[in-house]
Amino acid sequence: MTRRSRSTRRLRAAAEAERVHRWREAHAADPEFVERNRLRQLFRLYGLVPEQVHTLFDAFYNRCAICGEPETAVSRTGRPKSISVDHDHETGRIRGVLCDRCNRALGYLRDNPDLLRRAADYLERPPWEGIEAA
Ligand SMILES: [Zn+2]
Repeated sequence: MTRRSRSTRRLRAAAEAERVHRWREAHAADPEFVERNRLRQLFRLYGLVPEQVHTLFDAFYNRCAICGEPETAVSRTGRPKSISVDHDHETGRIRGVLCDRCNRALGYLRDNPDLLRRAADYLERPPWEGIEAA
């Protein structure tokens, strides 16, 4: 590697980041590109080939395994997000597909079934009802 000044390396890195950003923006409007990218990502993350992805999503009718709703979240670019593949972080095993909200809810409660049951109990039987909210 040739020696370059730190500022030259930073400028080149910034130019490359800008090039990648423009390329992504230009392709974000292309549904085929978005789908190919999604399939590539699911292969990289979970080893799923496109046929397995379609089988999985079809099995859940593209709806969340918890709330039964289709995905409503949108990406940073304003495009509707695809429903998420959910997996066990310890075993890597795929459990199903979840909407963004339910996926986050599991994560916030640390994928802990006991905490999730306690949260449901809390909602159904609040432990303290002393003050009426305004
Ligand atoms: Zn959901």
